[in-house]
Amino acid sequence: MSERTVRQTGDEILRKQSKDVSELTDRLKELIVDMKDTMKIHGGCGLAAVQVGVLKKIIICAPEEDKEPVVLINPEIISSSSETEEDSEGCLSVDGYRGQVVRPKSIVVKAKDENMNDMEFDAEGFFARIICHEVDHLNGVLYTDKVVPGTLKDVNEEESTKEEIE
Ligand SMILES: [Zn+2]
Repeated sequence: MSERTVRQTGDEILRKQSKDVSELTDRLKELIVDMKDTMKIHGGCGLAAVQVGVLKKIIICAPEEDKEPVVLINPEIISSSSETEEDSEGCLSVDGYRGQVVRPKSIVVKAKDENMNDMEFDAEGFFARIICHEVDHLNGVLYTDKVVPGTLKDVNEEESTKEEIE
């Protein structure tokens, strides 16, 4: 497994705009493998390339723990439901915290897959939430920017207990 360092909030790179991927080079393929490993090691359910220091529009999403993560290249949310949902979110770049965030209940996403083929699909619920969170990263936005006031909580103790169990 090849783990990359997860950048933490306060690191300026997390505030930068990621760039489109025009060609999936061997280096970027390696990055995707490392992103999957890094996400797994940290027990995350999504990761954007910028979080490991690469300003490219690549995200991975794992709405179901046991399944292979979905890789989205140059993802764009082309429409969002007006109906929203508030739920708890955390971020590997904001270690030890969770907070409530309001997101659209469903979205339509346009992206390229791991073979650079175009795709368009609907996502809802938790999957939509992960995509929204990761696409925000590509635009330099963190969930803490939009957290429902007063809901950001330090969960460090709880998290470390969880790690020990795993
Ligand atoms: Zn995040």
